[in-house]
Amino acid sequence: MKIIVLKFGGTSVGSINRIKKVARIIKSYLKKYKVIVLSSAMSGTTNNLINMSQKISKNFPDNEYDTLVSAGEQISCSLLSGQLLTTGTKARSWMAWQIPILTEGKHKYSRIKYINKTKVLKFLRSGGVPIIAGFQGVDKNLNITTIGRGGSDSSAIMVAKFFKAERCVIYTDVEGVYTTDPNKLNSAKKIKDISYEEMLEMASLGSKVMQPHSIQDARLNRINVEVKSSFVDKGGTLITKRRNIINNKIITGISSTDNDAKVTLLGVKDRPGIAASIFKPLSENSINVDMVVQNISSDGKETDLTFTIKSFDLTKTKKIINKNKNIIFKRMTFDKNVSKVSIIGVGMVTTPGVTFRMFQALAKKEINIQVISTSEIKISVLIKRTKVTKAIKALHKEFNLEK
Ligand code: ADP
Ligand code: ASP
Ligand code: MG
Repeated sequence: MKIIVLKFGGTSVGSINRIKKVARIIKSYLKKYKVIVLSSAMSGTTNNLINMSQKISKNFPDNEYDTLVSAGEQISCSLLSGQLLTTGTKARSWMAWQIPILTEGKHKYSRIKYINKTKVLKFLRSGGVPIIAGFQGVDKNLNITTIGRGGSDSSAIMVAKFFKAERCVIYTDVEGVYTTDPNKLNSAKKIKDISYEEMLEMASLGSKVMQPHSIQDARLNRINVEVKSSFVDKGGTLITKRRNIINNKIITGISSTDNDAKVTLLGVKDRPGIAASIFKPLSENSINVDMVVQNISSDGKETDLTFTIKSFDLTKTKKIINKNKNIIFKRMTFDKNVSKVSIIGVGMVTTPGVTFRMFQALAKKEINIQVISTSEIKISVLIKRTKVTKAIKALHKEFNLEK
């Protein structure tokens, strides 16, 4: 039995007409495959549900958050299944708890651990098309859980893993993975093949076309993922092993974020362990510190320390730092109007001078770099948010991504 997993994102099921189109796509696979469908909520639905919870409380309880926000997928799955049934295809919607899809970890950020195949396999064998709700799961105590925003990608990849699917196709509102967000830069180019490593960096650094966890899961389980459009029938992007790719570009893609904030502590009394005593309470409160720079203190007494966090963590961070008795500093400053721009590519491992070319291209456009961080296959810089488009344009050109 050849199984294929098809996942449809929010825009792809965003209206009744789109749902009808999706049903036609599903049918086109039925001659060759047994099809398992994963669906997101109709676009806007999850955000609306979250907004409602926020009107009740900024600290809406996490367990009720999961019950609430997972509701969007129930609507899209039943509509899609209803469309298939009324046009002659055997189908059925499945919520995660009905399967069940078991998760572990905290509410809002759970991870899929196990999927019971029995009922779905039986349905597949009987010629049916299961339409499974993405994004949701159930924990061992039968609490409803969710797996993080954009999590339907992960649901699809885990279903592909457990059902040993031949392929996993992620249908979305763009034709594939591009060199940079095609909705931000017209000259962005579709990438034919991209390695798991590069896709993981791009996704983690702000390219929301794929959820980062889903790429980790795909890489661990060696699942080939195809990203393509549900609007036009064109070849998409294959996310696969590095070995399968022939690419002569130094840089594969450019990503940017729009929810970073910069915190600077000025005149911090310097002593060994000072950085640890600043960051320990932040990590204990689940605040993710990203980029860090510490000046060398010229007199060995005082230093300045800058770091970035997600902007939604700023208020909490300020409170924690002000309460921290283990550090003495003169002043704390913040900037919410910063963004991280990153260039990503396995080609930079073997090519010298990439950092220089990046910095020079930005300097030519008078873009000031505030913080830098690097890994083997990426270089990130923190800049003023208003300069992001200009920076992406300049870097896209510098590294010949238009061609
Ligand atoms: P879905 O609802 O189908 O999951 P998403 O909105 O999560 O879709 O992801 C698709 C969006 O990702 C695109 O509309 C595009 O604006 C954005 N995006 C960001 N970076 C990239 C990139 N490098 N390539 C393609 N799309 C990107
Ligand atoms: N509906 C969920 C969200 O908006 C999951 C998804 O779209 O993948 O985050
Ligand atoms: Mg998505």
